[in-house]
Amino acid sequence: MRAKDRSPAARSSVRGLDPDGPGNSAVESPMQRGSRSLLRDINVSLLIELVRRSGPISRAELARQSGLSAPTVSTIVGQLLERGIFIEVATAPSNGGRPPVLLSIDPSAGYVIGIKLRGDGLTTVVCDLDAQVLATEEASVSLVGDPAAAIQAIEQETRRALRAAAVPRSKVLGVGIGLSGVIDSSRGVCNFSHLLQWRNADLAKPLQRRLRLPVWVDNDVKTLAVAEKWSGDALSARDFVTLSVGRGIGLGIVINRSLYRGATGGSGEFGHMIVEPGGPKCECGRFGCLEALVGEDALRRRVGERHGRDVTRDQLIALATAGDGATLEVLDSAGRKLGLAVANMVTLLNPELLIICGEGTDLGNPFLDPVVTAVREQTFADLGRQVEVKVQRWGNDVWAVGAATLVLRESFSLPGPDEKSHAIWHRPGPER
Ligand SMILES: [Zn+2]
Repeated sequence: MRAKDRSPAARSSVRGLDPDGPGNSAVESPMQRGSRSLLRDINVSLLIELVRRSGPISRAELARQSGLSAPTVSTIVGQLLERGIFIEVATAPSNGGRPPVLLSIDPSAGYVIGIKLRGDGLTTVVCDLDAQVLATEEASVSLVGDPAAAIQAIEQETRRALRAAAVPRSKVLGVGIGLSGVIDSSRGVCNFSHLLQWRNADLAKPLQRRLRLPVWVDNDVKTLAVAEKWSGDALSARDFVTLSVGRGIGLGIVINRSLYRGATGGSGEFGHMIVEPGGPKCECGRFGCLEALVGEDALRRRVGERHGRDVTRDQLIALATAGDGATLEVLDSAGRKLGLAVANMVTLLNPELLIICGEGTDLGNPFLDPVVTAVREQTFADLGRQVEVKVQRWGNDVWAVGAATLVLRESFSLPGPDEKSHAIWHRPGPER
């Protein structure tokens, strides 16, 4: 069981544990009880993380930042160069003497697949180690109430996306899947999804059998937080939240560089906080949830009432962009309501960074400005003025890229009891 976040980022404040080096008695960690090979694995992950964040970087600087001895760094770097994970890159001309050789990660050393499941279909991407997209595939198929259809579609789309990306299968590290709901990510089981109307749907096991690849499954909003931590705006943040707005409203919570899941994986269901008892009925079956008041469906309904006709998502965005008076009023009122909830969340969690993402960001300033204003003005003390707020550009494949980073995180993390962890080390060397 992977009971907690073992991502490289989660450990980035930890210095290396050098089996050959001095000073280890000062480092307090249960990892010290591990074997020498485990220590080496920790150090491998640490060096990869340092190169990923700070590269191109010299061996000497790696030793300094990791606290590992020069011979230990040299040995591990040699292994990673041999495997094609590190590459040596040209350096800036120095003032005489020999220019230092700098190390960087080869983004084409491995590839990952990311899949976002929706009620009406799925988006599949193939990414390199920098989370850059090589191919995107879209498929329309009803997945509501039908996990078996999802498994079949995932298998099909994975093969299609790999062909489109022209990536050798031997270099694929695994498949990450994101979906709305309460997910037991340690088993790859969707415990409950009201959007998909699934209960206890086992995805990872059957897909691993069919695809013969490691498979990870997580809540879609949480995958966005993982993505931000991997290569996005939160690369160096320790405590941050991603707020996704759109049809649903959710939070990805990262505390001390670890994704906070809660006891059963149900953390961050921000949209289902009841903020108006007896209010409009929510998709979850209860009344007065935040999502039922300020989610995209509610906004479309309210703007539709003002105009006396049905309003589609595209029409809502067009009305907002054109500055339609009734639409701006609805968005402002909803933005204030959402902002108050977000301000309370900031008072509760005191994050250093708040990333607003999701398809609802297409509604732009009329919806988002009141959210930011509320955060600045309605939090306790200075917490709301100190938090950095970023609005992320939104694209259709962002969710799927988030799911792909699940694999990146796990592939570069410590070996666990389940063999599929640490995949990159146990696969045959890259084809050159
Ligand atoms: Zn609800």
